[in-house]
Amino acid sequence: MVVKIDEDACIACGLCEEACPVDALTIEDVAKVDADICEDIGDCVDVCPVDALSL
Ligand code: SF4
Repeated sequence: MVVKIDEDACIACGLCEEACPVDALTIEDVAKVDADICEDIGDCVDVCPVDALSL
């Protein structure tokens, strides 16, 4: 399992990228998660201002 991203909701603010302790997220047009790196920690879910992330 990796974090799920609602690409329609994401506003590309970058807060999740800053919050991720394993650097699994990058911001392109919207947030993208590297499934090989993500460990389902959930710090990104907690900081997203538009609830675009879920585990
Ligand atoms: S914190 Fe939420 S809105 Fe901001 S880039 Fe990440 S997924 Fe998108």
